[in-house]
Amino acid sequence: MRSLVLDLEQRRLEQRDAPEPELKAADEVRFRIQEVGVCGTDRELVSGRLRRRPGDRPALVIGHEALGQVLETGAAVNGLERGDWVVPMIRRPCAPACRSCARGRNDLCLTGGFNERGIFGLDGYFTEFAVDAARYLLRVPERLVEHAILIEPLSVVEKAVARALAVRQTEENSALVLGLGPIGILAALVLQSRGFRVRLASLEPRDHPRAAMLEAHGVEYSTTFEGRYDLIVEAAGSAELAFQAVRALGPAGVFVTLGAGQAVGEFSFIDLIVGNHTIVGSVNASPQAFQMALTDLETLPPTALRAMIRRFEFGDYRRTLFDRPPGAEPKFVHVV
Ligand SMILES: [Zn+2]
Ligand SMILES: [Zn+2]
Repeated sequence: MRSLVLDLEQRRLEQRDAPEPELKAADEVRFRIQEVGVCGTDRELVSGRLRRRPGDRPALVIGHEALGQVLETGAAVNGLERGDWVVPMIRRPCAPACRSCARGRNDLCLTGGFNERGIFGLDGYFTEFAVDAARYLLRVPERLVEHAILIEPLSVVEKAVARALAVRQTEENSALVLGLGPIGILAALVLQSRGFRVRLASLEPRDHPRAAMLEAHGVEYSTTFEGRYDLIVEAAGSAELAFQAVRALGPAGVFVTLGAGQAVGEFSFIDLIVGNHTIVGSVNASPQAFQMALTDLETLPPTALRAMIRRFEFGDYRRTLFDRPPGAEPKFVHVV
């Protein structure tokens, strides 16, 4: 079967032929990959910018955002059958399982020994067929298939928003989202659905199609973010910007960072203290966050979701992984 393989030693990405995976345990499911999404993590991976771990395997099938259709189920699988649509969760527990992994919260792994399909230690889904234990597969109703490739990035947003709401100490509801990528757009839409007045700030001009799309759905768009906000979600990938945005927190505000890397800057602990501020980092998603993504996918505006996806053929990966992403649609998806 066709597979997109990253040779980590040669730093080369190439299409290779790989043997098809087979069921090896009664709790496993074999499925055909229908779509695979590409994100910043994939681009960092193929360009060698992603922080690797010692002992990572020398070559890896990339791709972690996937939508598939079940072909075959093991004897012990309940609740999934041939023809069902599924979205796989990415992270697999460390072994022996730490207390978080043992209770199914691989996203909170305590040892760092977890694996992630298509990222760390395990082949991903930029290929034709895959096998996973049923517990890692989320069943997607047929009516949600068109946008189901957004479930994984949406699950990351769901976990982050749930964390922010859990530590929030007031009912104030102004929100700022930084970044016009898929995570930023999904965060803006989810916060709006939770009753927030949302402004999204990013570098793109206001007449950018994605900005216009957001404004059509009631999210304010701007290239600046003066004012104070009760909840800020950073999804722009800029630590310099994150330093600035922390200063825009209102009283008892919550700041969630999803994309910022490292930067040297100033941070005021005294503002944090007297402002009752909370700063949260979040990565990956729990099974519950995947369920919330499924629920929200049904209620978010379909026109906005549709405008977020641009589809490519399997072999067109140079355009989505290396070239500067063209067009207005932020989520690149390969149809396998
Ligand atoms: Zn991703
Ligand atoms: Zn663990």
